[in-house]
Amino acid sequence: QQQQFLLHYQPQVVGAGRITGVEALVRWQHPRRGMVSPAEFIPLAEESGLILPIGQWVLETACAQLTAWAQQPELAHLTMAVNVSARQFKQADFVDSVQATLVRTQANPKRLKLELTESMLVANVEEIIAKMIALKAYGIGFSLDDFGTGYSSLSYLKRLPLDQLKIDQSFVRDVLVDPNDAAIAKTIVALAQSLGLGVIAEGVETQVQRDFLATSGCHAYQGFFFSHPLPIERFEAFALQ
Ligand code: C2E
Ligand code: CA
Ligand code: CA
Repeated sequence: QQQQFLLHYQPQVVGAGRITGVEALVRWQHPRRGMVSPAEFIPLAEESGLILPIGQWVLETACAQLTAWAQQPELAHLTMAVNVSARQFKQADFVDSVQATLVRTQANPKRLKLELTESMLVANVEEIIAKMIALKAYGIGFSLDDFGTGYSSLSYLKRLPLDQLKIDQSFVRDVLVDPNDAAIAKTIVALAQSLGLGVIAEGVETQVQRDFLATSGCHAYQGFFFSHPLPIERFEAFALQ
């Protein structure tokens, strides 16, 4: 109501650093507390139900940004990843409200990627698959966020119409020091490849982490090594440089 939310955009890159898109990350600019991290207020918003209007605002703002980029030849190719909370996805009218948002904002659904988490995919699998198929029919893509930290069943992972697995940052962090994390990261890459899915690593902070992932067959990255999440003006300056 007081217009205190804003989005920051973190680049997603391939190879040496070519930007293919961004992840939209919400921020709360509080008049006294300053910038409040989503790690603090998203869980509260989930509990209170406020995640529904917040999530809608995020989607609307991200889609409007896609439409603005579509007018700029240098930025028109960018994809937009948007986090969707379990509660949002569970809404009976979720598919319709995403569709209505796309129509209102005139965003190209092919540039929109919804990030789901494993934990929201455990119950009502048939219903989830039906919603995903309906959204995919519009051209929307799906990435499975924080992959490897939840309890996904591999038997229905193969049934979900996903486009991408996102290697959780907890595995990336210690990929060079903990052989178990290295093995997990490599296994996720191999799993994605054999399921015919894309794979992206998040939380990439160093060149050596990037190189390890590249050697393991993962060529898409997101993390501080490339860029922190940036306000819109700074992201655009970064992308156009
Ligand atoms: P997430 O979806 O896993 O987002 C990635 C988080 O990792 C972001 O934190 C990002 O700033 C941070 N990050 C990116 N690169 C690095 C890196 O190299 N190193 C480290 N240590 N961290 C990195 P952020 O922006 O604080 O968001 C935290 C969480 O809040 C997100 O985790 C997501 O679960 C949630 N969130 C953020 N925006 C939204 C939103 O619009 N809707 C919903 N439902 N959740 C959101
Ligand atoms: Ca995410
Ligand atoms: Ca994540």
